[in-house]
Amino acid sequence: MAKTRIAIIGAGPGGLLCARVLQRRGIEVAVYDTDADPYARDAGGTLDLKADSGQIALEDAGLLAEFRALARPEGQAKTRLDQHGTVLAGFVPEEQDEAATEIDRGQLRGMLAASLAPGTVRWGHKLHTATSLGAGRRRLEFGNGAVVETDLLVGADGAWSRVRPLLSPATPVYRGVSFVEVRFDEVDRRHPRIAKLVGDGHMFANDNAGRAIIGQRNSNGHVRGYVALRTDLDWAAKAGIDLADRAAVQGFLCDEFADWSADLLPFITDNEGEFVNRPIHALPAPLTWTHRPGVTLLGDAAHLMTPWGGFGVNLAMLDGAELARALAEESTVDSAIQRYEKVMLARGGEHALGANDAMDRFFATKEFDPADIPDTLAEHQHALAAAAEYRRRHPVAVTWVLRFRTPSGERKFALVLDTSTTEPTGTLDGVPIENGTLRDGALRFTARLTAPFPMRFTCIASLDGDTMTGSAKAPMMSIVFTGDRVTQGSTR
Ligand SMILES: Cc1cc2nc3c(=O)[nH]c(=O)nc-3n(C[C@H](O)[C@H](O)[C@H](O)COP(=O)(O)OP(=O)(O)OC[C@H]3O[C@@H](n4cnc5c(N)ncnc54)[C@H](O)[C@@H]3O)c2cc1C
Repeated sequence: MAKTRIAIIGAGPGGLLCARVLQRRGIEVAVYDTDADPYARDAGGTLDLKADSGQIALEDAGLLAEFRALARPEGQAKTRLDQHGTVLAGFVPEEQDEAATEIDRGQLRGMLAASLAPGTVRWGHKLHTATSLGAGRRRLEFGNGAVVETDLLVGADGAWSRVRPLLSPATPVYRGVSFVEVRFDEVDRRHPRIAKLVGDGHMFANDNAGRAIIGQRNSNGHVRGYVALRTDLDWAAKAGIDLADRAAVQGFLCDEFADWSADLLPFITDNEGEFVNRPIHALPAPLTWTHRPGVTLLGDAAHLMTPWGGFGVNLAMLDGAELARALAEESTVDSAIQRYEKVMLARGGEHALGANDAMDRFFATKEFDPADIPDTLAEHQHALAAAAEYRRRHPVAVTWVLRFRTPSGERKFALVLDTSTTEPTGTLDGVPIENGTLRDGALRFTARLTAPFPMRFTCIASLDGDTMTGSAKAPMMSIVFTGDRVTQGSTR
């Protein structure tokens, strides 16, 4: 795949993460996004990055330390109330709990964009059309007149993807719930009642009659909230309201939430920003498609789901990391896409079904059932166990058996190799290798042996999926070798 031209459409968390992991592995990539720059629009509120998905992706991207410097572990706190303001349940994370650490969406996007080589993201490029040129190649035309050709087109362009129609006719469907976004700055000083309700993390209040108020603390004393209700997609038009008319939207919501506690109504009456209508859409789930050469999707473009459970961004990033890994490790673009889609489609479909069902239940009209309140501690324990299991199945370093054809017969060596960057590290028969490089599938490293006699040699090999072939050069000799990946259960 040395000369593969890869174009990722969409510089959201999924597309940026994918590009970062590709670059760490020495693979060239270009990312195209409609926005003029990473901060061109309000990126949205806070996101929890889960240990078993978003944080795994960040580890592959080599960005865990940067993430931790920005993240808010205390933001995992949760309070559940009813419409009367009665506290039904609460969760305060232990100091060392990092199972679902929060970060502002804008900070995450800025961090990922800054991690890429300069010029990787072509801002101000809105994909207009993708025309097939045969054999998986495509010509991409952008709204600004730019035209590029690509061997692999990755649709990371979110809910209303322009790339998705190349693979599936599916379109997002309104799920019967609209979130109206509200925001508050300097909450501790200017909105102490809201600050108290939201605490360090999240407040969820619902009335079991299709209405909810959600508050989420962001960094810098900012709270983002959603006044959410089960309603028609065109609720504003039906009520004769112009969504840009703040007073009219406020009046409508005050009427809708008239039987709620006065303690919760400041989320409507004290909103400092626009009331931003966010109707919740989801793709039919589980969504699958027949593999096509030279094109794939990740994140919302592949499996847009309701925000319940906060899986969307986590799966987008894990998709991005896994696609990049597959591209780095498989011998053809096709085999990489097939390996990636097999896992991604099954996982996305399962999570989408769960998230969509959970939101339906949250906004259902029914008797209060304590069992409906999620057990956050159990969820965190599950995420940490799942993260450990993921790393067991997808270790950062994998073991290879190298077979050297020496004049006295075959000799086997165990090579433990971490190829997650272009400068691989590891050991050969327990002795650290040196000067590792990996470019376009070509691996090079220096190794030292102590037995049967001290020797230093340079290995040059070409990696092809689960095998490698190469030669070891010492001052007076050159020996060919082959290698097989043996780490059990590993797909890396
Ligand atoms: C109200 C709400 C709350 C949410 N809360 C959470 C949460 O708490 N936790 C969570 O995990 N998820 C949450 N989500 C979901 C989350 O926002 C998405 O799952 C996540 O952003 C998906 O990432 P992505 O990279 O796939 O796509 P996106 O973040 O949508 O990025 C797509 C990118 O593609 C670009 N683009 C689009 N079309 C084109 C084009 N034609 N040409 C070029 N570029 C294009 C866009 O500019 C954008 O930058 C929430 C969603 C909503 C609506």
